[in-house]
Amino acid sequence: MKLVLASGNAGKLVEIREVLADLSVTLISQAELGVDDAEETGATFVENAILKARHAARLTGLPALGDDSGLCVDALDGAPGLLSARYAGSHGDSAGNISKLLDVLKDVPEARRTAHFFCVIVLLRHAEDPAPLIAEGRWHGRILHAPQGNGGFGYDPIFFDPQRNASAAELESAVKNRISHRGQALGHLRELLAREI
Ligand code: IMP
Repeated sequence: MKLVLASGNAGKLVEIREVLADLSVTLISQAELGVDDAEETGATFVENAILKARHAARLTGLPALGDDSGLCVDALDGAPGLLSARYAGSHGDSAGNISKLLDVLKDVPEARRTAHFFCVIVLLRHAEDPAPLIAEGRWHGRILHAPQGNGGFGYDPIFFDPQRNASAAELESAVKNRISHRGQALGHLRELLAREI
């Protein structure tokens, strides 16, 4: 089965290829096929993942995987949510995003700082597929008062996992990849795809 990944992110391509290695799946990045990024106009992660996959499926004629992820803080009704990558204004400004979130939460006490990372990965068998495969993962924790740890990316230094008593930036990457929202979603996707093939 040949699949196109609706993302230009080389790291994601490698990670997903590894997880699907023992299935008879060949994963190609949309960038290799000359496909640009879709407009993310959805109101939820799953809508955006589907928009991305549909765009890639339509332009390539191949089944497509689309994903979306972000951080949802309970006290903020799920914000930064879809805006996670550009919460402070410019895309991918992790330091700015972290300081904005810490500032917004400065008067929120420990007990109300609960949050989760969310990830969804969808498979559209073709652009008009009315019943896509949908795999999701959630990683629950809480937002620290100050950054902790040097690993990871994005909001990792301020996301505390109470089960491991560490911030996401303090975990070894192999551990994070196994337990994270993305690790969980990839595990589910693997199961769904194995049934499909
Ligand atoms: P995307 O799904 O790659 O577009 O990720 C959206 C944004 O969510 C990223 O830019 C990060 O700000 C945030 N995010 C998603 N997953 C993680 C994670 O594992 N750690 C930290 N931040 C994350």
